[in-house]
Amino acid sequence: MSEASPERIWTHQDPDYLPPEIDTSKPSIARVYDAFLGGKDNFAVDRAIATEGMKHFPDGGGGARNNRAMLFRGVKFMTEQGIDQFLDVGSGLPTMDNTHSVAQRINPDARVVYVDNDPIVLAHARALLQTNDNTRVITADMREPEAIFEHPKVRGFLDFSRPIGLLLVAVVHHLGDDEGPAELVDTYKSRLASGSYLQLTHFCSCAPEVRALEGVLLSMLGTGRARDLKEITRFFDGLDLVEPGVVHLPEWRPDEPVRQPLDLAGNCIAGGVGRKP
Ligand code: SAM
Repeated sequence: MSEASPERIWTHQDPDYLPPEIDTSKPSIARVYDAFLGGKDNFAVDRAIATEGMKHFPDGGGGARNNRAMLFRGVKFMTEQGIDQFLDVGSGLPTMDNTHSVAQRINPDARVVYVDNDPIVLAHARALLQTNDNTRVITADMREPEAIFEHPKVRGFLDFSRPIGLLLVAVVHHLGDDEGPAELVDTYKSRLASGSYLQLTHFCSCAPEVRALEGVLLSMLGTGRARDLKEITRFFDGLDLVEPGVVHLPEWRPDEPVRQPLDLAGNCIAGGVGRKP
């Protein structure tokens, strides 16, 4: 690893440089997810978990890609409804396409704040977002919503007196039952103006293979809980669910007819979009 300097920005054109805050000896959720997606921003310790997970659930990558695809369909839908500001909590690593690129293709003035507690997301996003004035990224923990809403880079940039699109996409399953995930999501919803949307997706306990993958994630990564459709639907309490409701992701407003029955990758994550009345 080469010397860090504050000016130096991590890019794939500079592969020898690694920001000092990145610990490659321990796995990270963002990097394991990137490994499932076939990305380049992961290390041996992350790939070992993805490889072990795929022994039980060979198309783990398909599940992750379905999740990204539904994320984009949801952001497109919300932007078409007039939403022009997004708070993307647990955003992960910006890949080729992302929340801001989808929203800004429709509305170039749409603002996006990415929030993640993994420093690799900030390091990577700095390079990617250098020239995008309508997009910001902060390092914060979703379990501290006030710290996010009151963050100096968020307040004043997003106007919480107007509708926003809140994204909790594939992140709430990283909370244990003892951390009160439903109550935490309720806190976020209570901060949203009427007309705001919540898009939430969640690892779904639908098959033995998913339970096996959950076992690998919990034992090797310490996090990644599958919940059933009823528990996932509970996160939308108090919101008007956008049709077709909480479903397995390929079934959420697909661009093309969906082949039934869904395969495992199609069934392993569920979610939806709800509007605050
Ligand atoms: N939302 C993206 C998507 O759906 O493509 C990324 C999902 S990835 C599976 C989960 C992300 O949530 C990771 O980047 C991880 O670092 C982040 N995360 C996990 N726990 C978090 C927490 N307590 N606070 C903020 N981010 C968290």
